[in-house]
Amino acid sequence: MDPAVKHIGVLALQGSVAEHMAALERLPGVRAFEVRRTRELMEADALILPGGESTTIAKLLRIFDLFEPLCARIQGGMPVWGTCAGMILLARKIIGEPSHLRLMDITVRRNAFGRQSDSFAETVRVPAFGPGETPLVFIRAPWIESAGPEVEVLCTLHGHIVAARQQNMLVTSFHPELTDNLNVYRYFLRMAD
Ligand code: GLN
Repeated sequence: MDPAVKHIGVLALQGSVAEHMAALERLPGVRAFEVRRTRELMEADALILPGGESTTIAKLLRIFDLFEPLCARIQGGMPVWGTCAGMILLARKIIGEPSHLRLMDITVRRNAFGRQSDSFAETVRVPAFGPGETPLVFIRAPWIESAGPEVEVLCTLHGHIVAARQQNMLVTSFHPELTDNLNVYRYFLRMAD
C-alpha cells in the first residue's frame, strides 16, 4: 500500500453512501471504499458515518457485528466524521431516546429544526473549514443541544451547534456530500494526516 494514499472508508449499511463516495473520489490522494465488514473497517485510515436513519444504522451495526469493532477503532484514535445520522450515532446522549456508540461528549436533539423547515440550505462562513463560504444542507437534521468541555464548537446556526470536534471525532448535522463544496472533506483529511 502506498503510504501517501489515504484509505477513507464510508460505513455502507444505509444512507447517503454513494454521495460521500463520489465526493471522496474528487479528492487527490484518497482511495475511498465502502465498509460493511470488520476486515474493511480495519483497512480504513479514517471513516465517514453517513446520514440516513440513525436507529436503522445502529441496528445494522449490531447485525453486521460491527458495533464493538467500530467503538474500539474510534477509541483507538481512528479519525471519524459523522454527518447527520452519523452524528447521532456518536453522541453520548440523545434527548428522549437511548443513545448508541456514546463516544462523543455531546447531547443531540433529533429532527431538531422542526417540521416547517425539515430541509433547508444556508451558506455561511465557517473559519475552521476554510477562508471562503461553506454551503450547509440540512435534512431532518439534529442539532447539538449541549457539549462537554473537550468539545470544540466549529459552527453554530441560529444559535444552535451544527458542527463540532472532539479529538479524532468530527460531527456535522448538515450534509456536505450533497453540495459540490469539499471544504469539510479537506478538514477531515487533515485530521487523518
Ligand atoms: N433524522 C435522521 C435520524 O434521526 C437523520 C437525518 C439525516 O441523516 N439526514 O437518524
